[in-house]
Amino acid sequence: MTTVTTCCVVGGGPAGMVLGYLLARAGIAVTVLEKHGGFLRDFRGDTIHPSTAQLMDELGLGTAFGRLPIRTVDTVHLVTDDGTYAIADFSRIPGPHRLGFLPQWDFLNFLTEQAERYPGFDLRMRAEAVDVVRHGTRIAGVLVRDTDGELSELHADLIVAADGRDSTIRAAVDLPIVEHGAPIDVLWFRVSKHDDDPESAFGRLTRGHFMVMIDRGDYWQAGYLIVKGEHEHLRAEGIDEFRRRVADVAPFLSDRLDEISSWDDAPLLSVQVNRLRRWWRPGLLCIGDAAHAMSPVAGVGINLAVQDAVAAARILAGPLRTGRVSPWHLARVQVRRTLPTAVTQRVQRLAQDRVISPVIHGEAGGRTPLVIRALDRVPALRTVPAFAIGHGVLPEHVP
Ligand SMILES: Cc1cc2nc3c(=O)[nH]c(=O)nc-3n(C[C@H](O)[C@H](O)[C@H](O)COP(=O)(O)OP(=O)(O)OC[C@H]3O[C@@H](n4cnc5c(N)ncnc54)[C@H](O)[C@@H]3O)c2cc1C
Repeated sequence: MTTVTTCCVVGGGPAGMVLGYLLARAGIAVTVLEKHGGFLRDFRGDTIHPSTAQLMDELGLGTAFGRLPIRTVDTVHLVTDDGTYAIADFSRIPGPHRLGFLPQWDFLNFLTEQAERYPGFDLRMRAEAVDVVRHGTRIAGVLVRDTDGELSELHADLIVAADGRDSTIRAAVDLPIVEHGAPIDVLWFRVSKHDDDPESAFGRLTRGHFMVMIDRGDYWQAGYLIVKGEHEHLRAEGIDEFRRRVADVAPFLSDRLDEISSWDDAPLLSVQVNRLRRWWRPGLLCIGDAAHAMSPVAGVGINLAVQDAVAAARILAGPLRTGRVSPWHLARVQVRRTLPTAVTQRVQRLAQDRVISPVIHGEAGGRTPLVIRALDRVPALRTVPAFAIGHGVLPEHVP
């Protein structure tokens, strides 16, 4: 069976859902394919950046969005052996919004509800794009597998691959990718939060250990950074050794680390930093993680994905409406979003190589890195990381 739409977005993550919403709002028929049956799944970042909150205001959704259970943070702290350091201050950046945290499924469900008000919006859950359909050199559609394993074709004027860092669609069209590599991996786990726990601090570092902690109300979502390739070795040492390491960097968690009962409770995120050399082929555009996997440093992957979607909607809505999307339009999206992506990845790689890597290799310790002490000492400096995380380079605005 073959169906036809104007734009097919593969992947209902932050990039795909924001693009789906914006195109439907612009009166364009858009089908979003999501291979999962719902948005409730493993933790993959909850950050609502000030730019996203501002976007909701610009779309007139600010009031409804503000009713969601978003927890906001003014200042981000890092705890080291020397003390607690303030490293980013969101109260200093322009605009009313701070750094927010909202379970990602709440955000995606909200976007779905809003998008469904527009007749052109069609979200197909449990629909996995398994390949592309070609007409000559142009990508003209995708092959979709539904829950029963049935295959069908969905044809569209434009396919947008927003299917994440292991993108099937990107692989199917063989776009060249530049791997920057990463010296770290992350083990994610959760442990319960007690009333007498220290105030939330985002990072804790001590010689040999670096851990990120996100306050999610009644539990901590934690990410323990390891040297890339160390996972097998750590597993061989056993879960008790992992618990001991966590207790070293956050001693107040010692009384509840048996909640990490096996390695299943601490899945590995293999960190990748990469970027497509070309984000498009005739009839196809990649955005979000499918175009550029970001390091978890500073938690900006969602922001980049959302901003890509806004730029794509702004540049492509007109041509989609008239049925005239050309390679030139697709290249314009890449040109617009390459600078923010490249600059952010460069800064992330510097932080990985100069700050995090020496710490987790046990080469740095004792004294807190100079850059962290400088941020704490000079309040005005804390505006820089807050703006970079909160809005990023070349922030996008609603068409
Ligand atoms: C453990 C973890 C923690 C993170 N923490 C943060 C954080 O704190 N802050 C932050 O900003 N970023 C964080 N990130 C990164 C962030 O999740 C990504 O950068 C962001 O989600 C990218 O959005 P996306 O829409 O491009 O891709 P994704 O969010 O990966 O969405 C892709 C979607 O496509 C679907 N899909 C995949 N293949 C297909 C297919 N063939 N057919 C149909 N659907 C398909 C997937 O199911 C998924 O829903 C984290 C990532 C991980 C893994």
